[in-house]
Amino acid sequence: MRAVRATALIVGMLLAAGALGLAQRARIDATALVDDLRQLSADAMEGRRVGTAGGARARALLVDRFRAAGLRPFAGTFEQPFRGATGVAGVNVVGYVPGRVRPDRYLVIGAHYDHLGIRDGRVFNGANDNASGAAALAVLAAYFVQHRPATSLVFAAFDGEEAGLVGSRAFVARPPVPRAAILIALNMDMIGRDPANTLWVVGTHQQPALVPLVDQAAARASVVLRRGYDNPADGRSRDWTRDSDHWAFLEAGLPALYFGVEDFALHHDPDDDFDRMTLDFYVRAVESMVDVVEVMDAGAGTLERLTPARPRAR
Ligand SMILES: [Zn+2]
Repeated sequence: MRAVRATALIVGMLLAAGALGLAQRARIDATALVDDLRQLSADAMEGRRVGTAGGARARALLVDRFRAAGLRPFAGTFEQPFRGATGVAGVNVVGYVPGRVRPDRYLVIGAHYDHLGIRDGRVFNGANDNASGAAALAVLAAYFVQHRPATSLVFAAFDGEEAGLVGSRAFVARPPVPRAAILIALNMDMIGRDPANTLWVVGTHQQPALVPLVDQAAARASVVLRRGYDNPADGRSRDWTRDSDHWAFLEAGLPALYFGVEDFALHHDPDDDFDRMTLDFYVRAVESMVDVVEVMDAGAGTLERLTPARPRAR
């Protein structure tokens, strides 16, 4: 009897310790994250194609989340409309957290929220691509409003990525902050599933000065942050340098990194659905983005030196 009680007590203590450990590690609101992923990838969003009612519905959700998180808008609004060179019109959702120490320097955290819409009567829900990144923006914003960074953070949900990086190119063409004050852009696109617990970090081949920062983040992260998929010598399909919104920054001469999972058989498939995601991994991937942002924030001096010709922003 006593032995049983003692065992029960020890088990109880271990469970409590485990729960405490989890509470200490859990920095983002995982419940809100998964719920937003579910909502953004629901049929009601009609595949979130740029310029559609479904896209506007997804945008309204993100505006609501940015406001609730306590992000600040630029010029009184979170919505930044654009029209691209090809005539594609959309709306980016953008807000910021002012930095405590370097308010005039910015890290851009971005993810596109648009997807392919409805084709032949089938809704392309794009749960991985890229409801996963868009939902991550909202919880990361909430985290960093509560844990203010030294450097200012701009959160940008880009529209029109699937139409040719239209929203991110519009953002870079007319950024809400001085372009020279952007230290780096961190792009999340397809972070919702991976059976091997691995999130690829793309861009250090061309930007080797970022390797120490990425490796610092990797040492802290709860997913495997692995550098790669950025060597042109490996061929177009194994070089993701131009595959998403990070390219809009890189092509303009701004540092950028891309975070995304290994190729997925349901990429641009109507079955890229919420129930195909690996939610444990997804939560850990977003937790790991907290590590990435914190390391980049602490490494702002390194980032500042990446572009020696950078004009003073002040
Ligand atoms: Zn995408």
